[in-house]
Amino acid sequence: EKKELENLKGQESITLDGRKVELAGNIGTPNDIEGLLKNDAEGVGLYRTEFIYMDRDSLPTEDEQFEAYKKVLEAMSPKPVVIRTLDIGGDKEVSYLNIDKEMNPFLGYRAIRLCLEQRDIFETQLRALLRASIYGNLKIMFPMISSLEELLEAKKVLEKVKKDLDNEGIKYASNIEVGMMIEVPSAAIISDILAKHVDFFSIGTNDLIQYTTAVDRMNQKIRHLYNPFNPAVIRLIKMVIDNGHKEGIWVGMCGEMAGDKKMIPILLGLGLDEFSMSPISILPARKLIKSLSSEEMKKFADKILSMSTAEEIEKYIENYFK
Ligand code: PEP
Ligand code: MG
Repeated sequence: EKKELENLKGQESITLDGRKVELAGNIGTPNDIEGLLKNDAEGVGLYRTEFIYMDRDSLPTEDEQFEAYKKVLEAMSPKPVVIRTLDIGGDKEVSYLNIDKEMNPFLGYRAIRLCLEQRDIFETQLRALLRASIYGNLKIMFPMISSLEELLEAKKVLEKVKKDLDNEGIKYASNIEVGMMIEVPSAAIISDILAKHVDFFSIGTNDLIQYTTAVDRMNQKIRHLYNPFNPAVIRLIKMVIDNGHKEGIWVGMCGEMAGDKKMIPILLGLGLDEFSMSPISILPARKLIKSLSSEEMKKFADKILSMSTAEEIEKYIENYFK
């Protein structure tokens, strides 16, 4: 088993009928690169930058951030590295930002909402990202976008920062893709509109499940209601992938679902282009994908889309692969 996975290193993640997908890794710090390389990640699909801001007394400087981003980009080059801008708030607290206690932190002042309000924090991060971009294949991703206005505003700030760098004679890559997470139902629902303004989507199922089903992802008491097999969630995922593809952009997933062996076949059938997961899940996922037919999984996904309950869907998947 272990030997078999070892042999998959260096191989493509390609289905029996020749559909190639990308298997990337999720990381939280530059120290995670070792695990990525060891597991033959085809890129970074999600670099959660909030950890640079946590467990300290003050904001990280532009140079500190630049060094961290550069390290990851250099180590992975020429493979793609999706770096997500600050997603603080919700369950991730940063004491020195003095954010008021909220009744519903997951529905509150977090991620892009905070960045669009506290421009200096956002601009500093974007400057660091742009400066680091010349060291590899950077893609910038905005978290928690819930409307077109927010997306356009975030892009405007990015353009402003580019102009600032131009004026200062500081170089950055010219071809940086800009994408967004789809983790809020309102974004999934208008993904046809949003797709016209980004280079890629990455579906964040951890939050998308939470918000779609109104189930707090941290609450153990209602854990049984937090269900990736929920047909509402699967329909939204299908909608996002279809809308992205209609506009010619690639669609990935960086929530836990992307590395789940039970979910990979249906995601493949729905047409997902990139799967980003915990590094240890990459080789097992490659093994699974190489054993599947994309055409067969399309029919498999169609069948699942006709089902009414999470239980029915889960049972069908289990029986199919028995
Ligand atoms: C997600 O919501 O699925 C996601 C990948 O982001 P995070 O888990 O950091 O909220
Ligand atoms: Mg999220």
